[in-house]
Amino acid sequence: MSEPLIRETFPVGPLACNCSIIGSPATGQAIVVDPGDDPDKVLAALARLGLKATAILVTHAHFDHVGGLARVREATGAPVYMHDGDKPLYDNLDMQTSIFGFPSIVTTTIDRWAQDGERVPFGDAVAEILHTPGHTPGSLSFHVADTVPLLLTGDTLFAGSIGRTDLWGGDFDTLIAAIHAKLLCFPDEAIIIPGHGPESTIGMERRYNPFLRQAG
Ligand SMILES: [Zn+2]
Ligand SMILES: [Zn+2]
Repeated sequence: MSEPLIRETFPVGPLACNCSIIGSPATGQAIVVDPGDDPDKVLAALARLGLKATAILVTHAHFDHVGGLARVREATGAPVYMHDGDKPLYDNLDMQTSIFGFPSIVTTTIDRWAQDGERVPFGDAVAEILHTPGHTPGSLSFHVADTVPLLLTGDTLFAGSIGRTDLWGGDFDTLIAAIHAKLLCFPDEAIIIPGHGPESTIGMERRYNPFLRQAG
């Protein structure tokens, strides 16, 4: 892989979930991560970038990350990957949306229950699946090798913060342990693309994230 990957990250939906499209310039194949809402915006971005989605990866099944899933899956024909630890959350989306006062969400088939360490190829690139539970039981992060490693961390790790653990199945100690085991092993220059808010790097979070400094 010589050329850098094509990447675009943009907020979708009322909670501004970051949706990312990452594509191989050599083959035009791409992954879509967290089409949380605004499926038309996601499909338009794919068309504008000249990319064809060959896999849809879901970091976790909170409603703000899966709202556009059904439309994007239908329109692209790409299989959806999710961890089965979040199946109960996906099966109970109406409970989630009603508690937070949002309209209900059309669900779709989950094609593949993703496993820790599984590799999802797209063109000449690969997304490696990392199980990083704690925000939810089935929370995933994705590692994509690029000119510097890319880490899509969902609501597990944010710039300067971590995911909340007071929602269904959340657990603080599990979350911290997962970040140390699966994410802080990457080099300082690795780019963090979180589920909400600005990007960061592993080096910045290792040094300045108040939830990681003492233990790190
Ligand atoms: Zn979440
Ligand atoms: Zn979220």
